Amino acid sequence: MYLIVGAGPAGAVMAERIASQRDRKVLVIDRREHLAGNLYDAIDDNGVMVHRYGPHIFHTNDREVWDYLSRFTRWHHYFHRAGAVVDGRIVPIPFNFDSLHALFPPHLAARLEQRLLANHAYGEHIPVLDLLETEDPDLRFLARYVFDNLFAGYTAKQWGRDAHTLDRSVTGRVPIRLSRDDRYFRDVYQGIPADGYTRMVENLLDHPNVELRLGVDYADLRGERFTKTIYTGKIDELFDHRFGPLPYRSLRFDYRTIDKPYFQPLAQVNYPQSYDFTRITEYKHFLDQQTPRSTIGIEYPLEHVPGENEPYYPIPDDASRAAYEQYRAEAAKRDDLILLGRLAEYRYYNMDQVVRRAFDVFEAEVA
Ligand SMILES: Cc1cc2nc3c(=O)[nH]c(=O)nc-3n(C[C@H](O)[C@H](O)[C@H](O)COP(=O)(O)OP(=O)(O)OC[C@H]3O[C@@H](n4cnc5c(N)ncnc54)[C@H](O)[C@@H]3O)c2cc1C
Repeated sequence: MYLIVGAGPAGAVMAERIASQRDRKVLVIDRREHLAGNLYDAIDDNGVMVHRYGPHIFHTNDREVWDYLSRFTRWHHYFHRAGAVVDGRIVPIPFNFDSLHALFPPHLAARLEQRLLANHAYGEHIPVLDLLETEDPDLRFLARYVFDNLFAGYTAKQWGRDAHTLDRSVTGRVPIRLSRDDRYFRDVYQGIPADGYTRMVENLLDHPNVELRLGVDYADLRGERFTKTIYTGKIDELFDHRFGPLPYRSLRFDYRTIDKPYFQPLAQVNYPQSYDFTRITEYKHFLDQQTPRSTIGIEYPLEHVPGENEPYYPIPDDASRAAYEQYRAEAAKRDDLILLGRLAEYRYYNMDQVVRRAFDVFEAEVA
């Protein structure tokens, strides 16, 4: 019998693979009272499908992952579009030519567009940090504007520290797009499971070889023996925080009912300059649900305190990476243990990446 700790996407894909491809029995446990991990969604009192742990949009270029999940869900085809409130108006993000023209007077916007296209190809994505270092004073002005008004305030709220002190893996991601493409993601396959993520994960686990027990913590089973344990929980917790707790950013979601059909024109609107929250998600846009009332989630970042709130984003810096390596070395001493997923590997994985990771770990480590 295999044990899988965690019924999120990592655990569920691994369970499906072991059950169907190796014909072995699998026990899946989760300490929460629901499955699907952070993908958990449910219809609320307003008739809107709400994601309890924050908005999740599926997007991938990995055809195999898309085809695989398509066996367990139908898709509502959806291209995510997001906006940011800058100088009081909603403009497309990532920042593109439409954002440029919405924010600057026509002659200045035209000059900046012309300077961008004189130096770069149409359609290119230029990291804001690179543009800050160019010789051209117009382009440096634009980069400074985008950095200060769209990025710095948002980042300070999101990470609780100054944008300049963060790893380039975080800051390097913010581009200026030299086009009018306002899709947030450019992946070939994008969508939202038509019946929700929870149903998709239920379908993954629906196999006679799989037993699911909810409300069960790994600590409850520690004396029991299994062929292998695939652990998708926090690695520092597994070793009783012996090298110190790994730092995470957490979030608080303030869900509100809106007594009219729509609150905002898009699913996601960011607030880089104003308020203490980072963004507002209006959930009905994801499945294009037609309801007389709406539900929004207002997102406040905060420090993660174990036992008090959820660990959401690993904080990538040298100290946390060094502590993680100590835990990883400890785990390597146990040959019945496989670490998988965002908490066990202390890495931000998108959903498609975690599915791909489960495929690879399954092939490499489950005989
Ligand atoms: C706010 C936010 C928005 C996101 N949006 C997107 C998006 O738009 N698109 C995208 O592709 N990805 C998105 N992601 C990433 C996505 O959430 C992850 O890829 C996914 O959750 C990783 O799955 P997992 O199975 O590794 O972890 P999880 O989903 O966290 O599942 C781990 C499970 O293990 C259980 N567990 C932990 N410890 C124990 C224990 N000791 N005993 C029993 N059970 C235990 C937990 O209860 C949990 O259910 C987002 C992440 C965040 C934080």
